Parts: sequence; C-alpha cells; structure tokens
Amino acid sequence: MFWADTIANEIITKRQAPYRVFDWWTPSGMPHAGHVRTLLIHNAIAYGLKLHGQASTYFYGWDDMDPMDGLPPDLDAATYNQYMGMPLYKVPAPKPGFASLADYYTAKYLEAIETLEIYPEVPKTSELYESGQLNSMIALALDDAAKIRAIYADFGVIHSSDWHPFQVVCDNCGKLGTTYVTDWDGETVAYRCMPNLVTWAQGCGHEGRKSPYNGNGKLPWKVEWPAVWMVMEEDYEGGGKDHFTRNSSRDYGRRIVRDVFGGEEPIGYPHEFFLIGGKKMSSSKGLGLTANDAAHILPPRLMRFFVYRISPQRQLNFTPEGDSIPLIFDEFDRALTAYHTDPESDLGRVVLYAHQSDSPLPQYTMRFSKVTFLIQMPHINIREIAVREKGDALTSAEDEELAVRIEYARRWLSTYADESAKFTLQPDMPTVTLTHEQAVYL
Ligand SMILES: [Zn+2]
Repeated sequence: MFWADTIANEIITKRQAPYRVFDWWTPSGMPHAGHVRTLLIHNAIAYGLKLHGQASTYFYGWDDMDPMDGLPPDLDAATYNQYMGMPLYKVPAPKPGFASLADYYTAKYLEAIETLEIYPEVPKTSELYESGQLNSMIALALDDAAKIRAIYADFGVIHSSDWHPFQVVCDNCGKLGTTYVTDWDGETVAYRCMPNLVTWAQGCGHEGRKSPYNGNGKLPWKVEWPAVWMVMEEDYEGGGKDHFTRNSSRDYGRRIVRDVFGGEEPIGYPHEFFLIGGKKMSSSKGLGLTANDAAHILPPRLMRFFVYRISPQRQLNFTPEGDSIPLIFDEFDRALTAYHTDPESDLGRVVLYAHQSDSPLPQYTMRFSKVTFLIQMPHINIREIAVREKGDALTSAEDEELAVRIEYARRWLSTYADESAKFTLQPDMPTVTLTHEQAVYL
C-alpha cells in the first residue's frame, strides 16, 4: 500500500475526526530545501485523510518564540550580536516591511510554500503564548517542576533542585535565552538573567519576579513540544529523524505529555533526510539550496511526485544538475500511464496524491527532453507537433501540461542543463551571394 494511505488509515483508526496534521519550523534562518520534504510529507498525509473521506486541516507552525541562538550567514554580525538570546519575534528584521526577523524568514518560506501550491494554516508559538492558550500548560509544568526534573534525570540530564522548566523574558535586557527560573509561588516566578548560562548570548545580571503567563516567557523545547501537542489537539506530527533518535526530544515529549499534561502524543513517524547532491543541508551554515530555489526547480505537481514516490523512511537524494530533471519528468510520464491503467496501484496513488485536484489528468504528455529540444528551434510550432504526435486535439489538461513543460524547460536550460543539451540556431541567414541556380534550388 502507498505509504500515505497506510498512515491515513492508522490516523483514522486511532484518532477522532476532524483531523489536525502539524509541522513546525523555527524561523531562525533561510529555510533550506530539506524542509520542503517534511512540508510535503505532512501535506500528503493531510490530503490523504481527505481522499479517505475525512475532514482534515494542515497546520504549518512557526516556532517564533524561540530565542535567537545563532547568527545565520545572511545577517550582519555587528548589527545582530546584541539581539542574541531574544525571542525571534522580537528581533528586528534586516529589511523594512517585516515585523521581525521571524516574520522575515517566515515570509520567505511562505513564498516557497505557496509556489508549491500548498496553503496551510500558520499558527505561531508567540501567539499561543501571548493569547494565554499555553497558560494552563505553563502552570502544570511549573507545579510539576520536580517531576519534570526527574524525567530529565531518567534521560541522564541532571538539573539542580532549584531549576524550573521555564524561561522568562528579562525585564531589563529583553533576552529569554539567558534567564534561569529558581522559584514558582503559583503566581510569579523568580529569575536571574545569567551572564554565562549559554555560550551564544550574555545575560545582564538582572534579578526579579514576574508572571510566567501571556507571552512573558516560554517553556523549554522538550516541554513546549508536548504542551503544544495538547493545546493544538494534534493528531499527526512527524519530523526529521534527528528528533526521533533514542533520548531525543520526542522521547521526552512522550513522557511529559503523559505524566505531566495527562494527554497522549500525536501519531508521527521519523523522516529520513533529503540530501541535495548527496549532502545534508544546514540553514545555520548556509549550506545547500534554499527552499525557495527548490520550489522553483520543478512544477508543484512534479515536486510532490518526486517526494511522494519515495517512502519517508528512505533517504531522498536530489542532484539537480545534468539529466536528473528530465528523468523525473520521464518517471512521472510512466507513473501517469500506471495511473490511467490502474489508479489503485501504488504508482497510480502517487500520481493522485501529487495531483491534489479534482480536475482530470492529461492522457498525453510530450516528453520533457523533446520539449527542451523543440523550444530551442524558434520557427517550430510546438503545439502543432504535440497534436500530430497525439493524433488528436489536446485536452485542456494536456494543453496546460505542455505550457508548464515549456516554462520549466526554459528554466532548466538556463540553470542546470549541461552544455550538450543547449544549442543556438543562427538568428539570421548568413550574407552570401547566391548564383541564380543556387537561389532557385533553395
Ligand atoms: Zn537581562
């Protein structure tokens, strides 16, 4: 069975409709192409639930309450060092027109997401905190600080007996990553802003008490994740396999959601990495393709097809250079034949999931490599050739697909194609003097 159908069936068996599928991302740097795979996998699951006749919503959330804990390569260190440790949604953007640094990277990622024709709901952790939606979870975590310390200890992380699972925004310097909470009296927490708590930010030494509620601070990630599962009523959230290894944040979350919050974790599977040219990408090091670049390499349906045809539990490698893009189109054409022959076959299901529309799919497509060849010949009418090749008029789906292939063939020729795929016809006739016989012959 196609992997997304298997997961959809499991969700329907174990959880109550309407279903809520989640992915979260920290907007602390330019999103890279690796995030696109996880985005698309979750999108397939939310869409799969609809194909199975169930109501579902896809949420792509922004962890914008996280402190700034690294300097992405596109920011100026002299300007941004002073903001290290502040919540990302309070750090100014590098360009006008954005409310914050988080908003700036979020807007970049949303461009890529919309290019891929995906339209999720977009919650933000800053809003969950500021609106008070997380207040009850904060109270439970602080009341049960001793239990949370014991859970951390079970994973080999020993905190001193005054450690509390919370960090407030310092009233003096505005930093969050530098504060250490030492007491909770049921209404306020006591905190110190520590000069040396972390290596990436320096606290100011301020001490005080304040309410932990309504955006005044945040839970540490390992406690925040299960708190968010609870308040967002998540049914599914998978993620990169680095979050699912032994003693990972997922293991902490599973314990904390049950023992402290009295709930259960959403269903969720680890996803293998998305490698570009055999390499793992990193936002913090500025390595690899950005999500925006990746979103423009293939048409949305083809990009979904490329990701969906490989199970999330297998590594996916993408080398955009050379012939790999024409080969993905060829693979799609074969899968399209499988879809028309047997729509319930695994390959047929991949095509249906990639299509994500009620409109009919094309029966005829012109091979991508042929499109790239023909568009370099200026006097050729490619549609006429398509009609001749099909032996009939093109349907609107076929006509649309041809237009998309022409556009992406031009893109491919100007980016990743080898020189051998390109040729330029002489724009004008060379100036030669013809004899009368030659002119008649021509
Ligand atoms: Zn401070």
